[in-house]
Amino acid sequence: TRPQDILVIRGLCANYGATDVLSNVALDVRQGQTVSVLGANGAGKSTLMRVISGLHQKFKGSIAFDGQDISHLPAHKVASLGLVMVPEGRQVFTELSVQDNILLGAHTRGGLTAQQLETLYAMFPKLKAIHTRRAGLLSGGEQQMLAIARGLASSPLMMMLDEPSLGLAPAIVDDLFVRLAALRDQGLTLLLVDQMADLALTLSHQSNLLDMGQIIFTGTSDALLESGLLDRAYLG
Ligand code: ATP
Repeated sequence: TRPQDILVIRGLCANYGATDVLSNVALDVRQGQTVSVLGANGAGKSTLMRVISGLHQKFKGSIAFDGQDISHLPAHKVASLGLVMVPEGRQVFTELSVQDNILLGAHTRGGLTAQQLETLYAMFPKLKAIHTRRAGLLSGGEQQMLAIARGLASSPLMMMLDEPSLGLAPAIVDDLFVRLAALRDQGLTLLLVDQMADLALTLSHQSNLLDMGQIIFTGTSDALLESGLLDRAYLG
């Protein structure tokens, strides 16, 4: 293990009852890097993120985060150690205002100062303009930004994003990836799952290809593109 690896996964096997979904997965994420996990529908990407974040407990293997064994910690403990997930489908609190959603994200660190809130809004000016609006009234793109802002509000060491571009119009997806690139450039460690393989590859320092529960490629985005494996995985 290299000291700069913030997330180290070894021998991970996960199942839903009799269905094996992940098989002997190894994954390293270096501090400050953006790492993507690509793969066809059903490859096991969401399950991987749910296992890491403590939401799915049916697995074997080891998961270390920031030097600590987090296997089988409950989700709230994992989050409080600084590993947050922005789940598929955003899952904002629709009845609460934009600002209350953000403040909820900060409860593990004891709330936000006015200054910290302004820093977040500077990253997402649109959210500031609509901070009193009920989150359920936001567009898909706005809800995704809110889900990310809520995750950032906890001041994480690392953020996992599950399909952030899902269901968004192309122009909104482009805007989303510009913001993710800004987070990457600020040195936030990111683990990204997304069907927009081209954009995910462009964003990532390192990419992994998951195929039927197994990592069949780990390397740079260029090397993955040159391997031809991506086309085969997606075209089946
Ligand atoms: P997608 O991009 O379609 O979300 P994915 O790569 O994220 O796919 P997972 O959602 O992790 O894949 O699903 C992996 C496999 O596990 C699929 O075959 C799926 O049907 C199955 N699966 C997922 N959730 C459950 C569950 N709660 N119970 C049983 N099987 C499940």
